[in-house]
Amino acid sequence: MINISNAVLSKKAVAIIIKTAKDGYLAPYKQERLGILLGRLQGDTVFVSNGILFQGGIKTRTSVSVNSRSIENRIEHLSLRHRLKFLGSFHTHNEVANNISSALSEEDKVPICENYIPLIEVVATIWVSDSPLRQSQYYCQVRCDEYRIRIATYRFGGSFPIMPVSSKGFK
Ligand SMILES: [Zn+2]
Repeated sequence: MINISNAVLSKKAVAIIIKTAKDGYLAPYKQERLGILLGRLQGDTVFVSNGILFQGGIKTRTSVSVNSRSIENRIEHLSLRHRLKFLGSFHTHNEVANNISSALSEEDKVPICENYIPLIEVVATIWVSDSPLRQSQYYCQVRCDEYRIRIATYRFGGSFPIMPVSSKGFK
């Protein structure tokens, strides 16, 4: 197993994650959204340079289920086109009935496909708030209009530890 200890997200990846979270939140009945993370691995750091929304799948307020084969096709195509490594996926958690959680569910711990092993999973939790931003090295908060998005990164596998995450896109 590769020993990854922290993640760096590009400004672009953060912008895409924020937009994805907001679009899902604004969808009728709110929808969870999911995307693919591409980048590179250097030492014990994952550098996420790009995030791409995965359009398919069955989406509810609290879940997205995707077809393994179709996501593999997408990963294959995107990693070749961008010449980047598949690092894992990101998905959104909507505030539902005042419940805000960045924790991984048991379903979140199941790889999105069989042939590409994820290294990380990024969870973007979104809710409405105008209170001051609260930052830590594990939970970064970003403001977007009246929305607040909290980004947390987990190492995929084992005990799924949360990892320090940083980005120039956090402000
Ligand atoms: Zn989840």
